[in-house]
Amino acid sequence: PPLLLICIIGIGFMTFSGSCAAFLKLAGSRLFSDRETIRAVSLIIFITAIISGFYAYSGGFEYVLGFALLMCLWGFFFTLPIGGADMPIIISVLNSLSGWCTVLVGFSRDNTLLIIVGTLVGASGTILSYIMTKAMNRNLLRVIFTPPENTAEDAEKSVRAIHQGTARDAAFLMENAAKVIIVPGYGMAAAGAQHELANMAKILKIKYQVDVKFAIHPVAGRMPGHMNVLLAEADVNPDDVFELKDINQEFQTADVAYVIGANDTTNPLAKTKTDSPIYQMPILEVGQAKKVLFVKRSLAPGYAGIDNPLFYADNTIMLLGDAKDVTKQIVADLE
Ligand code: NDP
Repeated sequence: PPLLLICIIGIGFMTFSGSCAAFLKLAGSRLFSDRETIRAVSLIIFITAIISGFYAYSGGFEYVLGFALLMCLWGFFFTLPIGGADMPIIISVLNSLSGWCTVLVGFSRDNTLLIIVGTLVGASGTILSYIMTKAMNRNLLRVIFTPPENTAEDAEKSVRAIHQGTARDAAFLMENAAKVIIVPGYGMAAAGAQHELANMAKILKIKYQVDVKFAIHPVAGRMPGHMNVLLAEADVNPDDVFELKDINQEFQTADVAYVIGANDTTNPLAKTKTDSPIYQMPILEVGQAKKVLFVKRSLAPGYAGIDNPLFYADNTIMLLGDAKDVTKQIVADLE
């Protein structure tokens, strides 16, 4: 039926191009920086696409083609201006749309398998979108319609001093600690440091009887569940892995927070900086630990593009270097 076909084409093309835009954004592309203009263009394309949809419904092939192209364009422009901390939500929404589109294809082809598979993908995507939206303290409409004001280009440049340490300092602090909480982020994934990290945790536990836990932020990394998958791959005991809400109060009693390649997910500006893209996102309260060890290569900001005041805090020691190399050196020292 034409209406079903129009819906499949509309959702399918929009989801495909939106996913391409998400891919480019995650790959760090900053082709378009004027978000206000992009949003205005996106709105115009959307309205034109809806009008062309009516023509496609009653008209011939060329109208359908025009509608498909417009929806394709809209998906791209719809996703481009989405802000740093809101990307995980949009990725889940696109994921869910791909499932619902498959369901429609299933109905149009009278194919039960497609309907069942599409429903599973669509429903899990919808549930994930809901979980992400809650975890990020967001409202889906706000994510789509509120332009983030801050970008990587206007990241605050700080000239404050940092305390820099070595792998040896880190090993000494952790082997003498009673409780260490490890906070992995995108940098751990980029460096592929999960095996070294799991090894470090094991040595601390077995050789030094340290209570070691892993704290996972819902949007750590670049895809939902990113950290959990990598830690599972490295055979980290799932009983030692905790979600934000279950571990956040434990940072006050931790001797060391070992933050490896995480940044935005620990940034206290999320609580105070109203114009930041991560405003109101819950954070892991690593600053409450007695000592915070930050492993990253530089003082560069994370995905959301904002400086992290924790780098300059009195109880922070920066371990500048690749996450895998630094952790390997710590392991060698602990051994
Ligand atoms: P961030 O993106 O905030 O920070 C990652 C840090 O890792 C960077 O500051 C970088 O610093 C460091 N890093 C990169 N490579 C290495 C390396 N090889 N060794 C050591 N450090 C490295 O990560 P978080 O996990 O804290 O936060 C995730 C962010 O991504 C959030 O803003 C979230 O909204 C967003 N996002 C999440 C998605 C998801 O589904 N989980 C999807 C889309 C976006 P440096 O360059 O100095 O090394």
